[in-house]
Amino acid sequence: MTEQTPVTQTDATPATSAAPSPKATPTLPDAQVVTSVKHWTDRLFSFRVSRPQSLRFRSGEFVMIGLMGDPDPKTGRQKPLLRAYSIASPSWDEELEFYSIKVQDGPLTSRLQHIQPGDELILRPKPVGTLVHDALLPGKRLWLFATGTGIAPFASLIRDPETFENYDQIILTHTCRDVAELDYGRELVDSLRSDEMMQELLGDGLDKLTYYPTTTREESPRMGRITDLLRNGTVFADLGIDSISAETDRAMVCGSMGLNTDIKEILEGYGLREGANSDPAEYVVEKAFVG
Ligand SMILES: Cc1cc2nc3c(=O)[nH]c(=O)nc-3n(C[C@H](O)[C@H](O)[C@H](O)COP(=O)(O)OP(=O)(O)OC[C@H]3O[C@@H](n4cnc5c(N)ncnc54)[C@H](O)[C@@H]3O)c2cc1C
Repeated sequence: MTEQTPVTQTDATPATSAAPSPKATPTLPDAQVVTSVKHWTDRLFSFRVSRPQSLRFRSGEFVMIGLMGDPDPKTGRQKPLLRAYSIASPSWDEELEFYSIKVQDGPLTSRLQHIQPGDELILRPKPVGTLVHDALLPGKRLWLFATGTGIAPFASLIRDPETFENYDQIILTHTCRDVAELDYGRELVDSLRSDEMMQELLGDGLDKLTYYPTTTREESPRMGRITDLLRNGTVFADLGIDSISAETDRAMVCGSMGLNTDIKEILEGYGLREGANSDPAEYVVEKAFVG
């Protein structure tokens, strides 16, 4: 695996809490138990929950998760407050991992950010999504373009052996405003590098996975929007790649509306077409959030 741009680690050590023993009897509908929580920054955290035994999903898919809403002032009834979340863990994992934003006045995440090991959350076991291998035609090189929490589905895919079996090279780009916001992805890539099982899949020089982090606000060794770095050829020069070709390159995109629209335009300029589960093609896109 090749890391193109080492980024300075911050001093902040993320706080991790591990599960005591999960509660025996779930009380919410579709309840799962939180097993660990890790706060990365004041805007980002990740957590793991128990996995329903019957839940099968393809790496890259998302599910609806949430908490019980406040009681209705008139009826006293509570309704689940659910949001779409990419599953960040791979399909073989015994637990499910999620990587989340903290929106201070967000209906769900203003509360979700306070979950603790042993707490319950609601998980609707109906995974869906387009960031899956089935929606792409076979290719040689896979680009994973993420901004912010859009790295979550790719955190699943780069832990899935199928990704490395399907492609000769995987390039994960992650763009955030600040350096600390890259830590989740960086730690994940580092952990794959030191995982014996994954080392075999990553090839002799561990160079099958290329990690390409960039920041847009805080200074770091690689600055700029990935769209600008693609348009001005910096990415290609950095990685020693001539260009993107519809014959060999495949791409998955997960970011804000703006990022998705811009990358689509760039990829289509190279002749790639958007694919879907029902009609696989050369690239697929999903929103990292609405708004
Ligand atoms: C297909 C899909 C997958 C998603 N996967 C994830 C995921 O893996 N992790 C995750 O944190 N969120 C994810 N989201 C967004 C998520 O559904 C919620 O919007 C988010 O959890 C905030 O919920 P909320 O109720 O607190 O605020 P909301 O009312 O849902 O959002 C309030 C505002 O916060 C901003 N916002 C919301 N989510 C984000 C975000 N992730 N990054 C930056 N700004 C945001 C937007 O401006 C939005 O209008 C996904 C959304 C979609 C459509």
